[in-house]
Amino acid sequence: MTQITLALTKGRILKETLPLLAAAGIVPAEDIFTSRKLVFATNHEGLRLLILRGSDVPTYVQFGAADLGVTGKDGLLEHQGDGYYEPLDLGIARCKLMTAVPVGAKPQKGRLRVATKYINVARQFYAEQGRQADLIKLYGAMELAPILDLAHEIVDIVDTGNTLKANGLEAQEEIADISSRLIVNKAAMKTKYSEIQNIVDALRDAVAAEAVAKEAVEKT
Ligand code: AMP
Repeated sequence: MTQITLALTKGRILKETLPLLAAAGIVPAEDIFTSRKLVFATNHEGLRLLILRGSDVPTYVQFGAADLGVTGKDGLLEHQGDGYYEPLDLGIARCKLMTAVPVGAKPQKGRLRVATKYINVARQFYAEQGRQADLIKLYGAMELAPILDLAHEIVDIVDTGNTLKANGLEAQEEIADISSRLIVNKAAMKTKYSEIQNIVDALRDAVAAEAVAKEAVEKT
């Protein structure tokens, strides 16, 4: 039997991915949240799930260690890899990638210092704006950088804006709309076409049904 491996992103994205998978008829064989395992069987004999950090999902799929993956568009923009297709916007874990500055900060005249974990995305954004920026790579707690004068501004994910607000920052420019995407290894798309296409189709139907349900709720 052909073995299909689907890599999922742990954390917030996983919580929103599992209901979509269930709607597509894919259910893990045990509770992912109470287990420390990284690989899970499913109700389909030929399909297993990997639970990874979001930034590793594109790498697993690019090199074919996983056939499919679910991860945030932010990670895909930053990864800049090829070797995979992006056939489906899952419409979950929506947020925005934005620049943010201390509340009331005056525009920086000289060279800008920007702290972010999205170095590639930021480099491209400031280059397109024709602005000189020195980029400082951080792995978390970006909001601290302007407070401690490490950077003038940050590039980070904004959802409700509460994290920025709690740290005296405000969102400034939008770089990209983010949501989670399904990606597929290019070679696997050929060699395991029907198995993969079945999963893509089932997920596409689940996403469409979810959109219809959401619209109905919004109307009431
Ligand atoms: P918020 O306070 O709601 O604006 O959320 C901001 C923080 O939550 C960010 O610094 C991110 O680390 C995280 N976050 C929010 N939404 C997402 C998402 N869809 N994907 C990944 N991280 C997110």
